[in-house]
Amino acid sequence: MSQKISGVKGMNDLLPGELGGDMAPVETWQFIERAAREVFSRFGYGEIRTPMVEDTALFVRSVGEETDIVGKEMYTFEDKGGRSLSLRPEGTAPAVRAYIEHSVLNQEPLTRWYYVGPMFRYERMKTGRYRQFFQIGAEALGSKEAAQDVELMDMVVQLLEQVGLKDVSLNLNSLGDDACRPAYHQKLVDYLKSHREQLCEDCQRRLETNPMRVLDCKNEKCQAIVKAAPNILEFLCEPCKAHFADVRRKLDVLGIRYVVNPQIVRGLDYYTRTTFEFIAAHPALGTASTVGGGGRYDKLLKALGGPDVPAVGFALGLDRLTLLLKEGGQKYSAPPDLFVAVADEGSADAAFALASKLRHEGLKVEFDTRGGSLKSQMKRADKTKARFTLVLGQAERESGKGQLKPMAGGEPIAVSLSEVAQAVRAAGQGTAGQG
Ligand code: ATP
Ligand code: MG
Repeated sequence: MSQKISGVKGMNDLLPGELGGDMAPVETWQFIERAAREVFSRFGYGEIRTPMVEDTALFVRSVGEETDIVGKEMYTFEDKGGRSLSLRPEGTAPAVRAYIEHSVLNQEPLTRWYYVGPMFRYERMKTGRYRQFFQIGAEALGSKEAAQDVELMDMVVQLLEQVGLKDVSLNLNSLGDDACRPAYHQKLVDYLKSHREQLCEDCQRRLETNPMRVLDCKNEKCQAIVKAAPNILEFLCEPCKAHFADVRRKLDVLGIRYVVNPQIVRGLDYYTRTTFEFIAAHPALGTASTVGGGGRYDKLLKALGGPDVPAVGFALGLDRLTLLLKEGGQKYSAPPDLFVAVADEGSADAAFALASKLRHEGLKVEFDTRGGSLKSQMKRADKTKARFTLVLGQAERESGKGQLKPMAGGEPIAVSLSEVAQAVRAAGQGTAGQG
């Protein structure tokens, strides 16, 4: 016997229905993706699709060499031409690269994009933390105003509302900018150094390389120390303070509730001013309870050799969202409208053709391609939860008439075989044949 080959650790198969085990059924994924496309298009965001692989330098320069992502989580390899490539660990850098490469600024002053797709990070896995995971994200390029930050947060709020996710809290912060952050940085380093011994090993290293990331550490001991750390908001310069106040005021204007949390620093180096996270209250996710976050990155475009364009964006973790909505997963897939069964061998082709024709006409139709007895077909019909069955045999073929049998019980409906679709629709709750 040949040896079985397994999928790559930390990379999941997403399967329909209940086949996928711990992962949410693919229908839940589709449901959220559909909702996102719908909500984002209401806000005027167009979809972009960038490659899964980029020049490694793109992430080193944008995400930052000292971040966990670039420092230890990236899938980097050399292609046959000797180039260093990386599987994308996030979506902002590729979007910005594309924006610069296509000279988008010359074509429009304000650009709104979203993306949906897999990201790759070599992480320690657990529930809600994988090595291939999916993000839904959006970027708005060209506006420095608080209204743009708030528009993006509003978009997330509306998406979460549309998919029915409750108990998510918006945490808001500002990281200041080049004018005010250095002074804060110094104060923070001084404070953390005086507690160096109590920090976890990672944070002792971060203290040297990327001290702000200590604020974001999930280790309990570090969190205790961070609680008493200097507060970035007390160090903001006047323009940053004004921007932050404007963001808060506009959130109020829209009636969006939030909490100010000076520990929201985000994982990437390029953030300036506004940062935010949406945190779910769900015990199963533990430290993986942040469903998404984002922030402003006014300096990134220039740093990547592009024009000086202010920008803000967010990314949501689709895996985590699907886990939070998993319980309801099944409800996102509609059962078949109709199961067409074959009563006798001579009717097999006619039934097969009828099923095909009804699909042409927009019905969702099941047909058992394995053939088999009428009894075994009816068992299958039960399993698929089809709303109606129609048995096709010699009598039906000769009369041109059949019976639509409601699977949930009730009187059969006599139909002409040429008008099955109409009859199913007329008998339905208005869903048959749509979507
Ligand atoms: P965390 O602090 O949980 O590690 P992060 O700051 O690394 O998150 P971001 O880079 O901001 O995450 O990505 C945005 C969202 O993408 C996260 O809030 C999360 O929902 C999701 N995400 C990030 N990494 C993973 C992963 N390895 N597996 C599943 N989802 C992830
Ligand atoms: Mg992370």
